[in-house]
Amino acid sequence: MNPVAIVGGGITGLCAAFRLRQQNIPVTLYEEAGRVGGPIRTICENGFMAEYGPNTILETSPKIAALITDLGLDPRRRDSDPAANKNYIVRNGRMHPLPVSAGAFAATPLFSIAGKLRIAAEPFIRKPPGSEDESLAEFVVRRLGREFLDYAINPFVSGIYAGDPAALSVRHAFPKLHKVEAQYGSLILGQFLGARERKKRAEVAAPQAKKVSFDDGLQVLTDTLHTQLGDSVKLRSSVLSVEKNAGGWTVAVLANGREERRNHSAVLFTAPAHKLASLRIADAEPVSLAVLGEIKHPSVARIVLGFRKEDVADPLDGFGFLVPELERLSILGTTFSSSIFANRAPQGHVTLTSFIGGCRNPELANRQPEELFDRAVQDLKRVLGVRGQPIYRHHVVFPWAIPQYNVGYGKFMDLMTGIEARHPGLFFAGNYRNGISVGNSIVAGQEVASRVATFCSSETWDRAEVRV
Ligand SMILES: Cc1cc2nc3c(=O)[nH]c(=O)nc-3n(C[C@H](O)[C@H](O)[C@H](O)COP(=O)(O)OP(=O)(O)OC[C@H]3O[C@@H](n4cnc5c(N)ncnc54)[C@H](O)[C@@H]3O)c2cc1C
Repeated sequence: MNPVAIVGGGITGLCAAFRLRQQNIPVTLYEEAGRVGGPIRTICENGFMAEYGPNTILETSPKIAALITDLGLDPRRRDSDPAANKNYIVRNGRMHPLPVSAGAFAATPLFSIAGKLRIAAEPFIRKPPGSEDESLAEFVVRRLGREFLDYAINPFVSGIYAGDPAALSVRHAFPKLHKVEAQYGSLILGQFLGARERKKRAEVAAPQAKKVSFDDGLQVLTDTLHTQLGDSVKLRSSVLSVEKNAGGWTVAVLANGREERRNHSAVLFTAPAHKLASLRIADAEPVSLAVLGEIKHPSVARIVLGFRKEDVADPLDGFGFLVPELERLSILGTTFSSSIFANRAPQGHVTLTSFIGGCRNPELANRQPEELFDRAVQDLKRVLGVRGQPIYRHHVVFPWAIPQYNVGYGKFMDLMTGIEARHPGLFFAGNYRNGISVGNSIVAGQEVASRVATFCSSETWDRAEVRV
């Protein structure tokens, strides 16, 4: 059997390849860059550990723990410090803990009395007809009121998607919220009533989920997958086109400057949507992915700063803080990296990771690093009482950071579903289809591997019958 081609060596492609190989299905994973992992990358300098992209995996599915165990990584797994369950939101320049109990909600100064009463009225709000593809902002204002949008959802969405609540589709970006309203008629009631169903599926709601990394950072996961996959991984190999042939698919690859053509039984696309948009696919008729180029991916800059502990007034007891747009700071938020996991900073020091840009201000992310360092330090002075200058700095910008599941995203989903149905052997998975978190991608990579394996076994069976 010709190997399955996997286009893209991010976490989705790596997980799919690993699970397929476990089932003795040969794979060739083509990765355009000189390393695997996409934005998952850890750097250790002068005793500070900095993550380029994601800091943690939110363990919402048992499939995440299963993968870690199967890779033999349990001894290297690190769960976040329990204090990191606390999240803060900035209002009037000060951090307030996000309330997680009814008592804390009643007492918090994060929302006004009128705002709290409006939130408490949520179970009595009826779902209007014709709200099938609503923006997150419309949905939240309708159910919970304007203040909750401004001081909870707006910062929360910047922290996850670097996105714009007025553009994101609640149906596609937050499908669970959409389903909870449809099923229970209320988000607050659904929170309680849905617990039993989540338990049945062994799923954990995001606020209760463990935050996971590894002793030497998240890159341990992608490095280990790479090691396990060995020479099935082809680095510096950019897939250009895919063409149907008699027994499967011919993939044209630009490998180390030379174009090569290889035969494969199936092709799994996990490269980012904006890259897939320029890929040529030819079956009996050409298949165009060009429309995927319309998916918005704002720029995000990530700034890591290391300080002496005594230069930061705040005790940093939490995961970090998020900034509502109304607060008019440059940063979208900051994670207290050295409070979440030990060994992220030398003794007596702290590491803070801040994000700038996103849909709120994509142009800002592309400014010179010096300006971004200055802006981040100014904001941290204001919110955390930071004094003096950082003794460690690291900057990276992602020009195409995160796909935005905006209103109308259904047309992209339908395109992929349609291609899979009409062109057996082509598969799509990754952060442009299955959710944007690392956890989503780990689950998606394993799930698509099952679909590919089923396809391969039916193909082998068909051909065996033909041979007989
Ligand atoms: C700054 C930042 C912070 C984040 N923070 C978090 C976080 O804290 N927690 C969290 O859960 N998630 C976070 N995310 C999101 C998460 O990291 C990504 O959504 C996830 O890693 C995407 O994985 P993927 O495999 O779907 O895609 P990718 O990792 O993008 O992998 C796709 C791969 O395809 C390759 N490729 C592209 N074109 C081709 C081609 N033609 N041929 C071959 N290969 C190709 C690319 O080089 C890339 O390696 C963050 C993302 C960013 C950018």
